[in-house]
Amino acid sequence: MAQKKINLPESDIPESWYNIVADMPNKPLPPLHPGTHEPIGPEMLAPLFPMELIKQEVTSDTWVPIPDEVREVYKIWRPTPMFRAYGLEKLLDTPAKIYYKYEGVSPAGSHKPNTAVPQAYYNKQAGVKRITTETGAGQWGSALSFACQLFGIECEVYMVRASYDGKPYRKIMMNTWGATVYPSPSERTAAGRQILSQNPHSPGSLGIAISEAVELAMQDDDTKYALGSVLNHVLMHQTVIGLEAIKQLELAGDFPDIVVAPFGGGSNFAGIAFPFLRHNLTEGKQVRCIAAEPASCPKLTRGVFRYDLGDTIGMTPLLPMYTLGHNFIPAPIHAGGLRYHGAGAIVSQLLKDGLIEAQAFKQLECFEAGIQFARSEGIIPAPEATHAIATVIREAKQAKEEGKAKTILFNLCGHGHFDMGAYEQYLSGKLVEHEVTAEEIRESLAELNTPEIA
Ligand SMILES: *Cc1c(COP(=O)(O)O)cnc(C)c1O
Repeated sequence: MAQKKINLPESDIPESWYNIVADMPNKPLPPLHPGTHEPIGPEMLAPLFPMELIKQEVTSDTWVPIPDEVREVYKIWRPTPMFRAYGLEKLLDTPAKIYYKYEGVSPAGSHKPNTAVPQAYYNKQAGVKRITTETGAGQWGSALSFACQLFGIECEVYMVRASYDGKPYRKIMMNTWGATVYPSPSERTAAGRQILSQNPHSPGSLGIAISEAVELAMQDDDTKYALGSVLNHVLMHQTVIGLEAIKQLELAGDFPDIVVAPFGGGSNFAGIAFPFLRHNLTEGKQVRCIAAEPASCPKLTRGVFRYDLGDTIGMTPLLPMYTLGHNFIPAPIHAGGLRYHGAGAIVSQLLKDGLIEAQAFKQLECFEAGIQFARSEGIIPAPEATHAIATVIREAKQAKEEGKAKTILFNLCGHGHFDMGAYEQYLSGKLVEHEVTAEEIRESLAELNTPEIA
């Protein structure tokens, strides 16, 4: 057996983030004002984000330097390890070579700190005192709490009610890093009160929690807002994953045929895939990049490409995205991080142009894959990550049927240590299958009155 774990020295932490917009044949369409439907300028985002992040949101530079202070913090857990999945390969008896990049070694246990740290840093530079945000499963809230604590910023997290009740230790983790956490919808905002007046028992959604966090940031000059996915600058910060992965595969003497990642709003997918897509776009390589989404929230495979709001109430600009409609409330499946109605503008444009692929998976197949992975590789994956593993297993089985060797890389975006309740349900046979119906999607999309994209 050749080397299993492929490590890089600290000096190989990337010095710049990769901005795929520079290399895209069709650039992402601009965000629009929700009232006038005119393209918005940077000034409309200024109440929400510090100017450096707004600049990154619209930059056409290919490379954006990573500040030294951010690289210093990255050293706590980066470069992250890459593994060759010999155990899984053996279990599947596949000729495919399987590699994974493991982002679960970060303090918060997922890829999210890769963007939380630079976001907190640029807010600190701009003199911001407090950041509000939303969190679904709790991964983003934990990552931002950690980052805010390091830079001395207050952090206020609106946590989707269903997760707040179901994952109490994620909340305690945020409290440990000094953040304040409220269940969403809450009575603290007009948005929350509006939802609660319609449904006092609302389980909440990411869209509602975003409305609450944005509302508070708009009201206070010292307070800004941070988003953990979807936006261009967030996707760009995550490219440290793929940039390191390219070097690690070089050390192994390999290059992937297929790159896979789970898909919520697109950040960890972008993080691992964009640096490889760069080789497709600039050198004519043909890496297949596959986004794996849940069948209960299938915006990429069953949604429409059009302008939609990022939140439920309508506080955010209209973004061009694959969407199920901003009122869509996904079933409470265990992959909480994948329960978002839309996809980032960049990944949406890439999908529209056929430059990336998407596949949807039901949760039983995903948990089955997660268990196989835990038993053959040791690491217990986050439920989100099991979507990528299910994709990899399908591809590896196909490679076996075709008798073809191919090289597959996937992003193991987080560990599942806070998801034992979900594993317990699966292991005791109580986990239910779920797939959204065509009727539910039609109804949700019928409520959209935002501009179509030609
Ligand atoms: C947030 C999260 C996701 C989904 O978000 P993306 O922006 O699509 O990456 C997936 N996995 C984990 C572990 C997460 O925390």
